[in-house]
Amino acid sequence: MPYVFDFDHRHPKPPMEMKDLLGGKGANLAEMTSVLGLPVPPGFTISTATCRDYMEGGWPEALTGEVQRARKRLEGRMGKRIGDPSDPLLVSVRSGAKFSMPGMMDTVLNLGLNDRSVEGLAAQTGDERFAYDSYRRFIAMYGRIVLDIPGQEFDDLFEAAKELAGTTSDAEVPTELLRYLVHSYQQIVERHTGRPFPQDPEAQLHGAIEAVFRSWNGPRAVAYRERERIPHDLGTAVNVQAMVFGNRDDRSGTGVGFTRDPATGATGAYGDFLVNAQGEDVVAGIRNTDPLSTLADTFPEVHAELMDIFDRLERHYRDMCDTEFTIEQGKLWMLQTRVGKRTGRAALRMAVEMTQDPRIRLSPAEAVSRITEDHLAAVLHPQFVGEGYAVLTKGLGASPGAAVGRVYLTADAAVEAAGRGETVILVRRETSPDDVQGMLAAEGVLTARGGLVSHAAVVARGWGKPAVVGAEALRISEHQLVVGDVTIAEGDWLSIDGTSGSVVIGQVPLSAADPPWEFYRLLEWADEIRTGRLGVRANADTGPDALQARQLGAQGIGLCRTEHMFLGEDRLPVVRRMILADTPEQEEKALEELREVQRADFVDILAAMDGLPVTVRLLDPPLHEFLPDTGELAIKEATVGLGPEEHRLFEAAKQWQEANPMLGTRGVRLGVIKPGLYAMQVQALMEAAFDRLASGGNPVVEIMIPLTVTREELGLARSWVEDAIEGTSPGLRRRKAAGKGRGKDSGGPELEVLIGTMIETPRAALRADEIAEEADFFSFGTNDLTQMTFGFSRDDVEGRMMSAYLEDGLLPANPFETVDANGVGELVRLGAERGRATRPDLKLGVCGEHGGDPASISVFYDAGLDYVSCSPFRVPVARLAAAQAVLEKGEAPSETTRPLIGSDRSRDVGGRDVGGRDVGGRAGGRTGTRSGGGGKTGTSPKAGGGTKTGASAKAGAPKGRASKKVGPMAKGRSGKKGS
Ligand code: ADP
Ligand code: MG
Ligand code: MG
Repeated sequence: MPYVFDFDHRHPKPPMEMKDLLGGKGANLAEMTSVLGLPVPPGFTISTATCRDYMEGGWPEALTGEVQRARKRLEGRMGKRIGDPSDPLLVSVRSGAKFSMPGMMDTVLNLGLNDRSVEGLAAQTGDERFAYDSYRRFIAMYGRIVLDIPGQEFDDLFEAAKELAGTTSDAEVPTELLRYLVHSYQQIVERHTGRPFPQDPEAQLHGAIEAVFRSWNGPRAVAYRERERIPHDLGTAVNVQAMVFGNRDDRSGTGVGFTRDPATGATGAYGDFLVNAQGEDVVAGIRNTDPLSTLADTFPEVHAELMDIFDRLERHYRDMCDTEFTIEQGKLWMLQTRVGKRTGRAALRMAVEMTQDPRIRLSPAEAVSRITEDHLAAVLHPQFVGEGYAVLTKGLGASPGAAVGRVYLTADAAVEAAGRGETVILVRRETSPDDVQGMLAAEGVLTARGGLVSHAAVVARGWGKPAVVGAEALRISEHQLVVGDVTIAEGDWLSIDGTSGSVVIGQVPLSAADPPWEFYRLLEWADEIRTGRLGVRANADTGPDALQARQLGAQGIGLCRTEHMFLGEDRLPVVRRMILADTPEQEEKALEELREVQRADFVDILAAMDGLPVTVRLLDPPLHEFLPDTGELAIKEATVGLGPEEHRLFEAAKQWQEANPMLGTRGVRLGVIKPGLYAMQVQALMEAAFDRLASGGNPVVEIMIPLTVTREELGLARSWVEDAIEGTSPGLRRRKAAGKGRGKDSGGPELEVLIGTMIETPRAALRADEIAEEADFFSFGTNDLTQMTFGFSRDDVEGRMMSAYLEDGLLPANPFETVDANGVGELVRLGAERGRATRPDLKLGVCGEHGGDPASISVFYDAGLDYVSCSPFRVPVARLAAAQAVLEKGEAPSETTRPLIGSDRSRDVGGRDVGGRDVGGRAGGRTGTRSGGGGKTGTSPKAGGGTKTGASAKAGAPKGRASKKVGPMAKGRSGKKGS
């Protein structure tokens, strides 16, 4: 394979599909040149493969000859030679990786100038000033980018020259001074490198190409790739292109243009233009630019040509494009195009509108595939308005959205301030469960330590509250916050952006969180694509959370953690009494009290999720988490002494203390030691379910045993649960584990209860075939599974070594954020396969952070899971990602992959009447027009047709009872993967 390709090289497929090899910029330059026939200055692309070879073994030998020949071809075409003293050809050397990395890598303009050719350029153009200005720019760029000389030295000198000339405008520096600058710049180069500025164009070209290769591993580029999760080994292409000059005269200029408004998505060209300017001048903000529309007056022909090109680009790319163009003495040149970046709002609007655009004819599936997690987040949460705020420091964007408030440094202070009506940003070194009230009171949370699954990050995400974590530059003392030499006192204003991780002093204006109707339309399409293939549930522990989740489109609860119900102020003392009990009677009495409160909690949740499955996990964490901190008590004992109650607590806490609690007495093991606990929980749950039934509800209950590792263990736990069910509700008709047949029809109440387990250890995944004998469902707990598969203690590893591992490329991504497809993912696949070998109808899900991560969702879909479950605020993202996973595998229903135009569904889009805010009601529906509104489709739990979910119809809820918001979410899992 050659290293070098001319822009008009005949490739075996459209160049725009060859970004791997040509880089984005090169592929699109080739596409514009050879496919679209647009006016592009000629040039050639050195492939990304060359860069990879370069990084491995230095400058490839064959490259020299190939570049030489390509250069000859270019010179032939232009009728000029690079470095020709009488009429030199100048070129740009432009980086361009597969993924656009704006401003992250370097480009050298005006290459080919030297002390002699600059005179030739002056003579040819009759413009000495222009020639020396170009030379000055070239030496500075080359010096900075290729020779690693601090750019500041050139800039300082240029500023001095402007001062001397008594002007603030670059364009007014006289020729004499430019000559002098060229001379001084060359001296700077010589001082730094010990050699004169290279005069030989061949050496210049070689140096520039090598510098672009090297810029791939520059710190800016590496940091950018880390944030955007772009692999480090792709390499960049290099484009060498004939220069055109927008800075020749007033019939020249340069601009950037978009085929639609990238901020709002509105149709119609949009952009900026500068007369008599070159390259980056437009974006540099040195001069005020004119809107693109003014071209219609100043350059009417060019304007018409440009609008025609925009139209062709949109037809061709079937998307909004951005462009760079230059006008040289009245002639238009296209310098770059690509599918343009856009705001979330614009992305949503464009995707939907393009399904109605006869030139583009997107299908709903294509529209869905163009939306990203960030696009959704941008409309679901407030954002900073505009850009360019002075960033005080950066942490990890842990929970999207922006927040503004006054800084408070303790949870108590935050609660107090919020009580006074202030808006608050809670700033902590890290957070613990003690800070939860403060977090609740705050608009946003900022921590100095911790990673993306630190307490602060997880809790904030769960609430949809903006958070920036691990901002390591923060120094927090009692009443102030210090970053470098900036001090922020308690009560001062601070703004944080939980998407980018930026922290800004003062009050940045925020845009409101207000999803446009297109948001709902796209999610409807996403649901249409994934329905029956991959469900989306939420992790929710309270009635309000469950309601919230349902409104965001959750199809049930995949994880209801009962431990949170134990931590409330009114409950903790009772839990402690239960742990401390000396006699069975005391224990029973405490359990009895807990049962009452748990029952009320469950009623709320089952009501909120009426008609949808609720997976309740029995108590999971080590009991000592409910006891006071031994360290604190030890100090108190040694100083002021302990009261009798405290003394007992201290003793108990010491007794329950474990060296390695995460691997200790928790989960089902706790149940083995305190079986009354699980029985109590099941009893409370069953009573709640019957309360719901009695009041006409339709509860669907799944009981989940945590941390099981053997069949015997699960068998034992299952027997407690069954006994407890039997004790609460004798004669209950329900489904039992495989092989055990269905419960007899005893005429008792009808309710479906499934009993299953979490799979969160490697052993459980490996022995899934045996464990499935006792389970109606599995839910993969991929947080613990990741901890145990890697042997990474999440709390320890995230803070201390994860960033080093990511920087050094030892891990491609944080495995707590994106599931490790090859290790942990393999265990999930294995567990699913082995479990289903025993029980083909085994229901499979995943709960935990990964359930809301798009890349992980795709892994889970491949593994054959039925649903993912994530925090309520992640539900829209998960719905989208689930659909995209289905699309990736080519398994979407065909009606979603055909254009709407011409189909009887096309009117679905035009009418905004169908675009209400009622997410729940519309979720999963075909569309408003088909389902005749949320009510009808949604109400029949039988819609799934005989599947497990469908079976819940037996609960006897009258048809149509489920609230309108149930909508089609209750629809069956009748597709190929339906359980
Ligand atoms: P980036 O990827 O940072 O946008 P580019 O390679 O596009 O870098 O180049 C930087 C600037 O120089 C752009 O404004 C571009 O239009 C301009 N430029 C690049 N090559 C040429 C050229 N051959 N003639 C005129 N201007 C050019
Ligand atoms: Mg740039
Ligand atoms: Mg560019």
